[in-house]
Formats: sequence, structure tokens, C-alpha cells
Amino acid sequence: MIPYGRQSVSEKDIQAVVDVLRSDFLTQGPRVPAFERAIAAHVGAKHAVAVNSATSALHLACLVLGLGAGDALWTSPNSFVASSNCGLYCGARVDFVDIDPRTYNMCPRALRRKLETARSAGRLPKIVVPVHFSGQSSDMDAIGELAREFGFRVIEDASHAIGGSWRGSPVGSCAHSDIAVFSFHPVKIITSGEGGMILTNDAALASRAIELRSHGVTRDPDRMVRPGGGAWRYEQIGLGFNYRMTEMQAALGLSQLEELVRFVVARHALAARYDEALRDLPLVLPWRHPDSYSALHLYVVQIEDHAPIGRMELFERLREEGIGVNVHYIPIHTQPYYSALGFQVGDFPLAERYYSRAISLPLYADMSEAAQDHVISALIEALRR
Ligand SMILES: *Cc1c(COP(=O)(O)O)cnc(C)c1O
Repeated sequence: MIPYGRQSVSEKDIQAVVDVLRSDFLTQGPRVPAFERAIAAHVGAKHAVAVNSATSALHLACLVLGLGAGDALWTSPNSFVASSNCGLYCGARVDFVDIDPRTYNMCPRALRRKLETARSAGRLPKIVVPVHFSGQSSDMDAIGELAREFGFRVIEDASHAIGGSWRGSPVGSCAHSDIAVFSFHPVKIITSGEGGMILTNDAALASRAIELRSHGVTRDPDRMVRPGGGAWRYEQIGLGFNYRMTEMQAALGLSQLEELVRFVVARHALAARYDEALRDLPLVLPWRHPDSYSALHLYVVQIEDHAPIGRMELFERLREEGIGVNVHYIPIHTQPYYSALGFQVGDFPLAERYYSRAISLPLYADMSEAAQDHVISALIEALRR
């Protein structure tokens, strides 16, 4: 089966992990801070805090921004459930903003309308989480302006988007946000097995995240309530978790980071081949925002209504051909857990309409042209009238 996405792991990556196993530290050694510094330098953020997943990173991001019961968090319905679950973990209310039908990202105009209504009702969100779907940045200038006007904080869910940029600023530089979050799950752009990273330019947010990823404990005398005593002393000053990244994960991530630019360039070359080969088929091809350089995590097409077969049949035919197509995403608000919170089908019609026609074609840095040609011929075969 040709997967929709997969990691590219080299012998150098493997050696980097093996070296850790022969070293003194399997966790909390030198590689985690080295990985943090390397990612921060790469994207131009002041601080990076490594954790064991992007889900943990989103949770800590919400906590350090003070999200709690009585607050609200808004995100895009066209995302993985982690983008909104982070709000629920904090006891906050969660709501969604419908997508722009061209980018499939949160629509800034829909966001403004919803903010104006919420302001009249006195129910403005504390945090908005734009998701850079498929690796293409959301309109961060527009969202940053709304944040200043309406007084909310911004967490970028950049799980798809390391290696991308918005108007020349690398995603993760937090030029228009408080925090950005990366995922290093194996299907994402670079991997550490499991892993995530919090990026911010705010030192206080970073130090709180560092405490919360390790039980809410500090050894910094300046942070202690009762400093002094023996050198063994640590203090628990918050209720944290064990969200730490291991040295093996950090070593893999560091080694992968060296290939990031090459991986994204390879994804662009493959996407350009899809663009060319599929342009006469009844498909809506991915639109590239001129201000955005996408990391191209996903290559999603929508089946036109006049196509000879629908999404279900196309999906099944491609799977039968050994092509591991997928669908991103089932709108979060239609999940049973969210229905139980009161959301209904019809609440976010553009995300729902997009979902009903979307299919993600295989795309990963090491995909061979032969594998891609197999996907292309299967699509032509299935969609020719
Ligand atoms: C993958 C993903 C996450 C969660 O990442 P993990 O590292 O697996 O926890 C969150 N948001 C989006 C948009 C994702 O694609």
C-alpha cells in the first residue's frame, strides 16, 4: 500500500538514536535542549520547549495562557480533534469558526463576524487557535489584527507547517501569535517518533511551560516560594504533568531537522507533478495562497460534483489499487463527543461541504515518481468519463 504520508528515516538518523542509547542520558540530557535551540534558531523564535506530542504542547499552551473554566477557545472545525480538545482539558468552552473554501483554513471574515456577535453577548474567546491546514499558513496578519482589536490570545496549531512561511516569516516565529506548536508525529514533515514543540517569544510563557511539562516543579530559586535550604531542594509551584521528550526523540528530531528544507522542497516537486497531471480531471486542486509558502504536509483534492463517481467510490477504488488515500478532516464538531456538547451537523457548512468532497492523495518526501505515477494513472482511470 502506498501510504498517504510516511517518515523518511536515514542511516544517519538511526545512528543518532543509537548513540543516545550508548550515552549517559536517555531522558533530560543534552539533546533535548539542543533540539529546542536548533528549532528556535531555524524558525526565528526566542524560546522553544520540547514535549512528548503536539497534543501535550497544545494543552500546555492553553494552560500558560491562563485558559480555565468560564473561558472559551475557538478553532477550526477542519482539523484533528487535538486542536479543540486542548480547550476541553482546561475546562473551557470550545467553539469553531468556519473555513475559507479556498484555503480550508479558518476564515478571518467569519472570525470577525463571530467575534462581533460574541462581543455583544459578552462571550469573547480567550484563545483562538488557527490551524495551518495541509502546511499552508492561515492569514496571520488578519488574525493578529483581530487579536489586538478583540483582546484574545493566539496559539497557532502549526502541526502541519514546520518549514513553511507566511509573508516571509517562518511559521513558528510567532510574528502574529503568542505561541505556535509543531508536531513530530511520523506522518508530519519531520519526526521524532512522537513529539511536539512549543514556540514563543515570551520568556515567562516558556518558563511556565517548562515547569508544567515536568510536574509543575522548579529548581530555580527565583521561582520558589521558599527559596534556600539544601541544594537538593525543588518546589512544586503548579499542577503539571510528565510531558517530557526523551533523548532518543530529541536526537532523531535534531537529525531530521537537518533535512527539513530538502523534505519540503521534495514535497513541492511532487505537488507540482500532481498539479500538472491532474489539472484536466474533475478535481479541485489545492490552491496556493500567494503570501504563503506551504510545508505541503497534505495534498488534498476535492471531487467536483459533475465527476463520474463520488468521493466514496473514488476512495474505495484507489484503496483497491493499493493507494492509501485518506480524508482530512471529519469536521470536529460532528464527532459524537462534540455532538454530546451540543454541536450539530449544519453548524459549519463550509467545513462540512469541503469534507464531503475531500480526499488526501499520497505525499511524502521520499515518494518515488513511479509510485506517484501509479496514483495519477489510477485517478485518470477512475475519473475519465
Ligand atoms: C497531528 C496533529 C496534532 C497532534 O499531534 P500529536 O503530535 O500527534 O499529538 C494536532 N493538530 C493537528 C492539526 C495535527 O495534524
